[in-house]
Amino acid sequence: MQLRKFNVKLNKIDHVMISHLHGDHFFGLMGMISTMHLFKRIKDLHVYGPPDLSEIIVSILRYSKSYLNFKLVFHPLESDTPELIFENEILTVHTIPLTHGIRCNGFIFREKPKPRKINKETMPEGFSLQNIARLKMGLDIVDGEGNLIYKNEELTLPEKVSFSYAYCSDTTYNENIIPLIRNVSLLYHESTFGTDMEQRAIETYHSTAKQAAIIAQKANVSKLILGHFSVRYKDLEPLLSEAKGIFHETILAREGESIILEH
Ligand SMILES: [Zn+2]
Ligand SMILES: [Zn+2]
Repeated sequence: MQLRKFNVKLNKIDHVMISHLHGDHFFGLMGMISTMHLFKRIKDLHVYGPPDLSEIIVSILRYSKSYLNFKLVFHPLESDTPELIFENEILTVHTIPLTHGIRCNGFIFREKPKPRKINKETMPEGFSLQNIARLKMGLDIVDGEGNLIYKNEELTLPEKVSFSYAYCSDTTYNENIIPLIRNVSLLYHESTFGTDMEQRAIETYHSTAKQAAIIAQKANVSKLILGHFSVRYKDLEPLLSEAKGIFHETILAREGESIILEH
């Protein structure tokens, strides 16, 4: 329903990653799969999640006598250590094992290094495609004997920054994730509670806003998004200021908001 509300085209979604089997994190999945079916999807859909999710999906389809007109490819996430679960030409996705009382993974999305940009101003005419490819890889242009003709920097501009996004929900305060998320451009970290409820956070395997900020600071991330707030907080400003006291570049997650990463 939220995807529809915010005009996200379902047909653009080919991979869905589920962190864990608490209802607030996956009860929407079957509705989305049914809607994709009703919209006559034919492309494969890849779902990554805890192994038991497979049985849940199959049971719901079986007992509702639903026969999907597309292939659903399930990828069970069984490892207790980080693993590469997806890779294409522009990005990789690794799991971030979290501590939440039940099997739970965060995910880290990393853009691969981008090719150097051709500088149209300095580019001589009639350059071969092969040489352009060499330039984009950062190589110099040499003649048949290996003599330098153009240095790479003469004909190219630096590549664009590669961004990374770490999604960590739900988890108790866990410093083991720091090396996995170090230097990411954007960290989403749950902050279900404020420090006033720190004991409750420990008991329920959740984090406080302050703890999320400590993780962000220790991991040297560029920006932190807080989310997954307990409904007890009608006003979220105290959580924000608690986090900002430790890590200034913090914002509150709001449904439907886009965050633009600056170069
Ligand atoms: Zn949970
Ligand atoms: Zn949750």
